[in-house]
Amino acid sequence: MKIGIMGGTFDPIHMGHLLAAEAARDSHALDEIWFMPSHVPPHKRGAGASGQQRLDMTEAAIQDVQQYEMLDIEMELGGVSYTIDTMKELWNRYPEHDFYFIIGADMVNYLPKWEQIEELAARLTFIGVGRPGFQLHLDDLPDELQDKVLLAEMPLVDISSTAIRKRLAKGQSVRFMIPVAVHEYIVRSGLYGTKP
Ligand code: ATP
Ligand code: MG
Repeated sequence: MKIGIMGGTFDPIHMGHLLAAEAARDSHALDEIWFMPSHVPPHKRGAGASGQQRLDMTEAAIQDVQQYEMLDIEMELGGVSYTIDTMKELWNRYPEHDFYFIIGADMVNYLPKWEQIEELAARLTFIGVGRPGFQLHLDDLPDELQDKVLLAEMPLVDISSTAIRKRLAKGQSVRFMIPVAVHEYIVRSGLYGTKP
């Protein structure tokens, strides 16, 4: 199967993540999307949600979509998650699948700095999507990376988890920026300064 991996901190997961995943699936005929929240070491967590809460919110966001699955491998591996280590584990566990890694324009520009990018790009195809505020120019990437990044068009949305956390803390509306089930989970848990 062709599997798209949608990785992120998901603190919280929002419509930008979901639209990116769906655009990649639709444009490149992916069979499934696996949502993979990254492990964030406790000392780096700050005021954000715990690993379990980020898994719960991601599950709440994707539960009704048949082609979307949760992948908690980076929580399981622990520590700081480098994509190369995670992918080696996935290639071992699922030699039968072809993996595509979905990233927003901010991450595409940053690709040359990824840990062991040559080894990663030798076996992995990236799918880049646009993100307001970030240019998506593949010509700026080193030659050997350019053919490893496919593009997918999504309806651009200027949403970030950081902005959602700030809005919630100020009591501003985040309706239609995150799924209803995620919003309910946040309020029920009193996350990001909300009051149950
Ligand atoms: P934070 O503000 O905490 O950094 P974020 O909104 O950037 O959160 P991440 O979990 O850091 O979300 O991002 C995970 C992946 O989703 C990255 O590849 C990122 O580029 C992509 N992404 C996040 N928001 C959008 C968006 N609005 N449009 C397109 N891609 C996005
Ligand atoms: Mg980010």
